[in-house]
Amino acid sequence: MTIEHIVIVGGGTAGWMAAAALSRLRAGRELAITLVESESIGTVGVGEATIPPFVEFNQLLEIDEAEMLAAVQGTFKLGIQFRNWGRQGDSYIHPFGNYGYQIGSVGFHHVWHHARAHGDKRPIQVFNAETMAAYFGRFQRTQGMDRDDLPPINYAYHIDASRYAGFLRRYAEKRGVVRQEGRVEDVALHGDRGDVVSIRLESGEVVAGDLFVDCTGFRGLLIEQALETGYEDWTHWLPCNRAVALPCHRDDGSGPPPFTVATAHAAGWQWQVPLQHRNGNGHVYCDAYMDADEATDILMANMAGKPTAEPNHLRFVTGRRRLFWNRNVVALGLSAGFMEPLESTSIHLINTGVTKLIATLSLDGITDAQRNTFNRITGREYEKIRDFLILHYHATARDDSEFWNYCRTMSVPDSLTEKIALFRDTGQIFREEDELFTETSWAAVMMGQGIAMRGHNALADTLDPAKTRKELDEIEKSIRFLVQHMPAHADFLAGYCPGT
Ligand code: FAD
Repeated sequence: MTIEHIVIVGGGTAGWMAAAALSRLRAGRELAITLVESESIGTVGVGEATIPPFVEFNQLLEIDEAEMLAAVQGTFKLGIQFRNWGRQGDSYIHPFGNYGYQIGSVGFHHVWHHARAHGDKRPIQVFNAETMAAYFGRFQRTQGMDRDDLPPINYAYHIDASRYAGFLRRYAEKRGVVRQEGRVEDVALHGDRGDVVSIRLESGEVVAGDLFVDCTGFRGLLIEQALETGYEDWTHWLPCNRAVALPCHRDDGSGPPPFTVATAHAAGWQWQVPLQHRNGNGHVYCDAYMDADEATDILMANMAGKPTAEPNHLRFVTGRRRLFWNRNVVALGLSAGFMEPLESTSIHLINTGVTKLIATLSLDGITDAQRNTFNRITGREYEKIRDFLILHYHATARDDSEFWNYCRTMSVPDSLTEKIALFRDTGQIFREEDELFTETSWAAVMMGQGIAMRGHNALADTLDPAKTRKELDEIEKSIRFLVQHMPAHADFLAGYCPGT
């Protein structure tokens, strides 16, 4: 069956990201795209922190960065600061970008470890430009500095997700996507094939299609309620299942820092996402160890200013749909699965989902090869991210609450146990199967949470210590120069993309 009409159900971040990206397929083709959404149901609208591939997603759509950031009150993000995770009082930054660069044939953190054994006691953070810029509250792209000896700056954005969805709506409608307001009441399946044939709206109107993209959020209206795809529950590894979100003013008049903050509490953690005009805040927690009132009180007591809305309470089950593409339905966003926003990966998974959909889609029809490939790759992506998130909870010395005692002592996937053991013994991190998180990411979180390297790649021992020290000096010097010449983040925003 050829694909002439794609129907996207749901208009949150997932729905409009899908609509915007798919709208580019229309050029020169007979392809209709309809997006159905219900204003009365609304969106989750709290997804605000992103990671660097999101910058590429916007570039792919040829979106003007400054225009988009102004429209969504966006700021730049250089990484995430984790507070109180390894122990209370601890703090480290998981930066975008790498520590140093490869010297000889081994990764930088091996060289750094070797240099330490020869008396160089500098912390690894001074060799990462994003970390240093974050500490000093500065931002500028290296590209704007007219020097080619400086490291590039890797960044992402903090955005107001609701405004971003609105921005993409304008983009997609301009390119021929038709938006249809209405609540879906019924889903009709084909008698033999079991495919979705059409959806019926509250108004009685029927919308038929060839391929359906389920972006209906946690409901999973098509993928679960109609097709009963099933869900893999990962709560035993990631026990948080509630969140309370509450934006606030920054009362002290400070500018937005160029990083997200994730502060661990007794039964979960709190996010702070700085936008130009306010901070997004939320507390992710586990209801077996804390109730909603206590979680809200902790959040309110640890915010930078007065709330600008009422607390928004959300429930979720961490895990993934058994199939992301089932029959002629592809699930994107919250309908595909959910992992807490600790590493800002949800919007990223929408990005990779829609990119994979476009890459595997043939308008001549849907095949098992497309579906199976999509499901296999997406499943692996989810699992790799899952393991990285579990690391944050498991690699802790915290014993001050039942929640942390559970996380510290729980059994974790074998893949993660092996990754930790290998790093501890040899400093080695293998980035397997195109996984999202880099060696620097794993090393930053492991070292930041108290997993020390006992050894390093033996090849690092073949380096000349004096020469290595000079190279490290050069890296540190160029990062210091770069950061000293950057404007304050707030000043950069004011000149480049002041919020509208
Ligand atoms: P939703 O926003 O729920 O949209 C669902 C859409 O479906 C709506 O338009 C609704 O109208 C429509 N709909 C539903 N049922 C019907 C029906 N019957 N008829 C018609 N329309 C219907 N991600 C990040 O990347 N970074 C973060 O910092 C981050 N923080 C988060 C914090 C929390 C607490 C949560 C819960 C999520 C967070 N996320 C984050 C995830 C992010 O919010 C979502 O991935 C993203 O917003 C996508 O949501 P969605 O579009 O899938 O669903």
